[in-house]
Parts: sequence; structure tokens; C-alpha cells
Amino acid sequence: MPSGLIDRFFTELFSSGRVAPAITVSWHSGEPLTLPPSYYEDAISRILSLRDTIRGDAISVRFDIQTNGVLIDDEWCAFFRRHEAHFDIGVSCDGPPELHDAYRVNWGKQHTHAKTLRGMELLESNRIKYNLISVVTENTLAHPEAFYKFFFDRREHLSGFHFNVLAHANSGDPALSYSAADRDAYYRFFRQLLQRTHRASEAGADFRIRNFSQGLARILNARNADAPNYFEEASAPLKTLNLDAKGNVTTFYAGLGIEVLPNLYGDDKGMSLGNIYEISLEDMAGSEKLLRIIRDFDISRQACEASCQYFPVCTGGFEVTKKQTLGSYVAVETTECMIHVKTLIDALLDDVKDYLEQRAA
Ligand code: SF4
Repeated sequence: MPSGLIDRFFTELFSSGRVAPAITVSWHSGEPLTLPPSYYEDAISRILSLRDTIRGDAISVRFDIQTNGVLIDDEWCAFFRRHEAHFDIGVSCDGPPELHDAYRVNWGKQHTHAKTLRGMELLESNRIKYNLISVVTENTLAHPEAFYKFFFDRREHLSGFHFNVLAHANSGDPALSYSAADRDAYYRFFRQLLQRTHRASEAGADFRIRNFSQGLARILNARNADAPNYFEEASAPLKTLNLDAKGNVTTFYAGLGIEVLPNLYGDDKGMSLGNIYEISLEDMAGSEKLLRIIRDFDISRQACEASCQYFPVCTGGFEVTKKQTLGSYVAVETTECMIHVKTLIDALLDDVKDYLEQRAA
């Protein structure tokens, strides 16, 4: 992303009057560490200086980066230490080598686990905490203990841990796909991880898995009128803005690319609100296209609320998946809903029930 684009976007953002008192700038998608630390030194300094000039220091700005860890070296660690007051690091690692290396290979088809691990260990030896994100595949389901232990053993170095079930149920590779028939396997996997966290906790070693703590929070808040509306917040317009390296802007979900459903709104620009070189952020925010998408997402939300008993505990964020897989915003119950939301909530509820019964016995 050229520095001129950073200047243009953040000048508009800070001038817009729409910016929240605290924002996070995330470098995400692709591998951000292929650019050198000097690139980010310059980008951070530009963003903070525009903030100071336009808004004083009234807006708190944090930064984060999501990396595969392969390129982390001493120079990067020095950069992270310099910026530790306002910089968070996320590393993508799928667990032990037999799980990670099954899919995470470089352009030369070489395994990457050893390099990712070396990057994580460099962060650890420099006392830099990092967030770990792991992708669960069919392979992982068969190895819950090895998966859990890998992350549990690093817990003191982590600022957080969560796993991602693959965003889309269908891919060209059967091992990277899932269907309704996999519900039991995911349920067992979730229950096994929950049981391991109980055992660790009883032995005095708490290890929080964010998928479960957030799922539990949604369950506990399901009847609390004052609690955040997780479903609506997941796809609230303008809460998240994505800017790609060519200047295209999308909103609703973090990481939503212009290539998704390219002709849904008849302009060959997918869900993009426009390009910052051609249209101002203010005009994007007031555009007819944004209103159309908001209306469509509202139709989707109403269909969920009317027909799905998991609505009060749903993470939300499945509008585009519904449209992509079932062809309609009105449709409900995608395979993704079943595995990501329903199976996880069922496992959590059964876990709490069993836990309370054991305590009462
Ligand atoms: S689980 Fe699926 S159908 Fe149910 S509320 Fe969530 S998105 Fe809607």
C-alpha cells in the first residue's frame, strides 16, 4: 500500500467526524512481514501525525498485525519492543508440525512449522506476548490432545488464543471441507477441549480459549437486555473499514474483499463502497449502495430472529455466507451456522450441565 494512499485514507477518516474515540489499524491478509519494519515505522508515524494534526490526541490508535511468523527475526523483535505500548501481534499456527504442516507450506511446497516456531520462540525470548490463532481442519478433529497441549504449553507467552473453523464449508480439498455429517465430530472435539480446560484449571493452570469464553458470555447474556447485541455488532455498517492496496473500501466484516459476490449489486465491485481515489469516505457512508446492503443485511437478521432458536447466542456475520451458499438473505441454517454456532453452543451448554451435575454429586 503506497504511503500516499495511507495519507489519503487517514486524512479523510480523521476529518470525517465518524471516527470512534479508540480505533485499531490492522495489517491483515497476505503476509504483512514481507515488507520491512521501516515500512511500518513510516506508516505508523504518518497515521499518528495525521491524527495529531487533525484531531489532536483525542483518538486513541492501536495497531496490530497478523503474521505466519516465518519472517520474525531480531530486527522485527526490536520493532515490536519499540512499539509495544500500542502494537499487538497475532501469529497463525495450527498446532504441532503434523497438523500445521499438512496445509501450511510455502511457495516451494516446503513445510513451514519449524520457521513459524522459531519466530514464536524469538518473540518469547524477547518477552513479547502474542496472540495465537489456529485453523481447525479435519485432521485436527482427530488429535484434540496434541492440539490442546501445543497451545497450553505456550500459555504464559500468549496474550490470547482462539481457533478458527474454516470460514467456508466447501473447498476443493475434502480435508478442508465439512458438512452436516461432521457435526458429531466437531461436537466431540469441542467437548474434549472443554474437558481439558477443566482438568488444567483444577490442577491450577488456567488456559482460556476465546471461542469458549466468548460463547459462554453470549449464553450468559442471552436474556440480558443491556448486553451487547453480538449478532448486530458482528456486521454493523462502518464499524470496520477495510482498505485494500488499490484503494477499494469495504465495510461490515474485517477482511471482506472486493472479489466476494462481484456482481451482486450490478457494479462488478462486490460489496465495495467505492475506491478512495474516486469517491470520498463521506460519500461512501451516504451512498445508496451502502443503504441497499444495510437493508439486505436487515432482511437476513429478521429471518434469523424469526426462525432460529440460536439467534440470541449467535455470533452473527453469516449474511454473505447465506447469500453465497443458499442464494438468499432470507434463507437460514447454512452448514457454517451448524458447525460454527449451533454445535459450539450445544457443546458449551452440555459441558456446563455436566460440570454442574458433577459438582452437585
Ligand atoms: S446460527 Fe445461522 S440461522 Fe441461526 S441465527 Fe446464526 S446465522 Fe442465523
